[in-house]
Amino acid sequence: MPAKEEKNGEEITNPYQIAKRLIERATKTLELQEGVYDILKKPKRVMKVSIPVRRDNGDVVNYTGIRAQHTDILGPTKGGVRFHQNVSEDEVVALSMWMSLKAAIVSIPFGGGKGGIIVNPDELSERELEELSRGFIRELEPVIGPEKDIPAPDVNTDQKIMGWMLDEFDRLRGHNVPGFITGKPLIIGGSEGRLEATGRGVVITIKEAAKRFDYDLSKMTAVIQGFGNVGSITAKYLEINNVKVVAVTDAGGGAYQPKGMNISELIEYVKEKGTVSGFPGSEEISNDDMFAMECDILIPAALENQITGNNAGAIKAKIVAEAANGPTTPEGNRIMEEKGIFIIPDILCNAGGVTVSYFEWVQNTMHYAWKEAEVIEKLEEKMIEAFKIVYEMREEKRVKMREAAYLVGVGRLAQAMIARGWIKNWKMPIDC
Ligand code: NAD
Repeated sequence: MPAKEEKNGEEITNPYQIAKRLIERATKTLELQEGVYDILKKPKRVMKVSIPVRRDNGDVVNYTGIRAQHTDILGPTKGGVRFHQNVSEDEVVALSMWMSLKAAIVSIPFGGGKGGIIVNPDELSERELEELSRGFIRELEPVIGPEKDIPAPDVNTDQKIMGWMLDEFDRLRGHNVPGFITGKPLIIGGSEGRLEATGRGVVITIKEAAKRFDYDLSKMTAVIQGFGNVGSITAKYLEINNVKVVAVTDAGGGAYQPKGMNISELIEYVKEKGTVSGFPGSEEISNDDMFAMECDILIPAALENQITGNNAGAIKAKIVAEAANGPTTPEGNRIMEEKGIFIIPDILCNAGGVTVSYFEWVQNTMHYAWKEAEVIEKLEEKMIEAFKIVYEMREEKRVKMREAAYLVGVGRLAQAMIARGWIKNWKMPIDC
């Protein structure tokens, strides 16, 4: 039985330590020289900035923002901006590393980037939030741009915030630069299908997994943690594919309806009330109740470190689809793998977002907008191919899906290092 994934008797929860360990393991399995791990374990650049905001009551508060650019060996760095009180440098760096691997897995010419501001956005008025968003872009201006580093939405940021950020960048440059940011409103260069891309991609990977195991989706049930952009859209596409969503939780509580929830009604309810809690006809449940529930598919779509040594043993799902980034601790992962749960790892499962962000950037570069059907078709192609490659690596190396995804991601980054003349004499184990 594999040893517990602990350090000094404690669970490992630092996302940067987790990302580094997984990358190191992949470089060893791939028999890459040590220098490759040395390059990948550190971000190329991290910027920490101060953003003073005048509050509505006249006080000035100085917020801290962070932007990490992991590696640009495949292309300009790319990744979302998160507004959350628990943002830390280690978290942002880990998220940027995962972005590099994700882009490599779906085979798009981007490196990994990520940003965050340490703030509880619920405590800010709309004007304060706009000042904060614009200030972040002013401070980062020297190191971001469509050929350098391209932001996007993440936790607690949305189309509206992307619109403000784009406007600030355009003013600084003195002309329109739509390819500077993705996930922006359609009217100023956003892409059809971007809003739905991550959730749609999650469901594509679930469908691919179901095909491999001959599962009938219409007989399956799902539970989802988080009902923001990713969680709600995932729920919507599960419903379209006849999967019954029986429970959902968010930061405000949880709702359980054994007969299956009407997702359009739930989305409308959350728009009005700000939480799934109290959804008419549902019973209140906690995250712990939901993780332990009888169901076929469990989808963490909120934050890091949600599936741990404490709750993984109770999970009964057959498939865990990691829509969030880093939702599982190494110990939570070990327990689930031992139980034979099929895990679709984050760097594959939620890669639909960056894929359509890439399509948005391409359309901005061409000054031409694609129709929604074209975006969806291209997204499906990318996600199905990415799933296939990772699954093949799993078979070839007789490893689990997470390790296979790291082998594909790290392997492709190593291939780029060969192409750039940084390393020599190495061959990818499978043709991809
Ligand atoms: P969001 O801000 O739209 O939604 C976050 C959701 O998580 C909210 O419903 C919130 O209430 C819930 N939540 C927060 N704390 C919780 C808790 N303790 N228990 C239960 N629910 C909780 O954010 P999002 O864009 O949907 O992102 C969710 C996850 O998906 C993040 O890990 C993010 O990095 C990842 N992701 C997002 C995208 C994207 O395109 N937005 C792409 C790839 C990955």
